[in-house]
Amino acid sequence: MVIAPQRPNTNDRPWLDATARPQITIEGVKKRYGDFTAVAGVDLSIYRGEMFALVGASGCGKTTLLRMLAGFVTPTEGRIVIDGVDMTDVPPYERPVNMMFQSYALFPHMSVEDNIAYGLQRDGIARAECVRRVTEALEMVKLGGLGRRKPHQLSGGQRQRVALARALIKHPKVLLLDEPLSALDKKLRESTQFELMDLQYKLGITFIVVTHDQDEAMALATRVAVMDQGHVLQVGTPAEVYEYPRSRFVADFFGTANLIEGVVESQVDGLVTVATETVGRVRSRETRAFAVGARVTVAVRPEKMHLSKVVIPDTSANSSCGEVLELGYLGNRSIYRIKTAGGQLLTVFSQNERRTLDWAIDWGDQVHVHWAADATAVLDT
Ligand code: ATP
Repeated sequence: MVIAPQRPNTNDRPWLDATARPQITIEGVKKRYGDFTAVAGVDLSIYRGEMFALVGASGCGKTTLLRMLAGFVTPTEGRIVIDGVDMTDVPPYERPVNMMFQSYALFPHMSVEDNIAYGLQRDGIARAECVRRVTEALEMVKLGGLGRRKPHQLSGGQRQRVALARALIKHPKVLLLDEPLSALDKKLRESTQFELMDLQYKLGITFIVVTHDQDEAMALATRVAVMDQGHVLQVGTPAEVYEYPRSRFVADFFGTANLIEGVVESQVDGLVTVATETVGRVRSRETRAFAVGARVTVAVRPEKMHLSKVVIPDTSANSSCGEVLELGYLGNRSIYRIKTAGGQLLTVFSQNERRTLDWAIDWGDQVHVHWAADATAVLDT
C-alpha cells in the first residue's frame, strides 16, 4: 500500500463546491455493440487537476469509456463536453486530450527521442522547438541522457516513462491513461505511482486513469468511479468509497469485506440492529434509515475485526465466536479465516506488532471476533 504524498492544498475538492464548473461532463453516455451494451448510461463530472480513476473488473466498460473521451469510439447515445465544447463532432486529433495506451505502443525501430517527438513532427513543429520540448519532456520523466536508446534497451519502468513523455509533449489539457502501470513489478509500480502523482500535481493537468487494481486506484486518485457491467455504481474519494460503500459489489470489489446477510430488527438513535443467522445480532451506526424487516447485507472490513481467546465484555461492540480454520503469515500482518458456529467464514487481518515466532492464536483454536458498531456498514442487498 502506497501512502499519498502530502499535497499542498488538501482542501482543493472542487466537487464539493456547488459553484465550481467541471472540466469534463459525461452525460448519459451509452455504447452498444449490436445487442451488447458495453457502457450503459454513464453520467460523470470531472474537475480540472483531478486524478480521476475508473476502476472495475475486466470487461466492465472502463476502456470503452476512456476511448469515447479520446474520440476513438463514438457513443451510441449521450454526449461528452470538455471545457464547454461538445465533443460529438470533434475528431480525436482535435480534442484537448491525449491517451497513453496499455501497451505503451512505442515504435521499436525509433530512438526514445524520436518516439517522443513523433507527434510534434507530424504537426510540422520546427526542429529546434521539437528538440527543446523533447529535452524538457525527458527531464520531466527523469530520462535525461537516455534519448538515443531504442525501446528494447530500456527497462519496463523506463519504457512506461517514454510513453508518458510522448503523451505529455503536446501539452494536453487532459491525459487519459489506460492501465499505465500494469507492466511494472510491484515495487516499481509503487514508486512510479508516486512519480505519476508528483508529475500530475506539478503540471496541474487532469489525469483520468483506467485500472482494474483497486490498490492502485486508492493510492493514486483524488476520486474513483467504480464500474460494473457498463454502469458506474459509486463515485467518491478513495476513503469515501472504502469506508462507506453503498452496495455489496462495491464493498467486495474495493478492498476485502466480510459480507453477512440478515434482517433489520430495529433502529434506535442511529444504531441499527440486524439479526443474522450466521453471526448472531450485529449492530451498526448508520445515518441512513432502514425499514424494520428489510433484508440487508452487513459489511465489515477484515482489519476492523479483532480476535481474542476470551470474551471481552463490551456491550457496545459486536462479537461472535468460531474456530480458526486457516491462518496465513504475511510478515507485516497475518490473515485468519474463522468459521462461526452459524457457518459464516470471517476474514480477519491482524497486524504483527511484535517480533515473535509463536502464534498467540493458532489453527483449530476457538476464538472470539470483536468489532465496533461504527466499523460496520449496512448495505442494501
Ligand atoms: P479490461 O480491463 O479487460 O480492459 P474493460 O473494463 O476496459 O476491460 P472494455 O474494453 O471497455 O472493458 O470492454 C467492455 C465490454 O465491451 C467487453 O465485454 C468487451 O468484450 C466489449 N467490447 C469492447 N469493444 C468491443 C467491440 N468493438 N465490439 C464488441 N464488443 C466490444
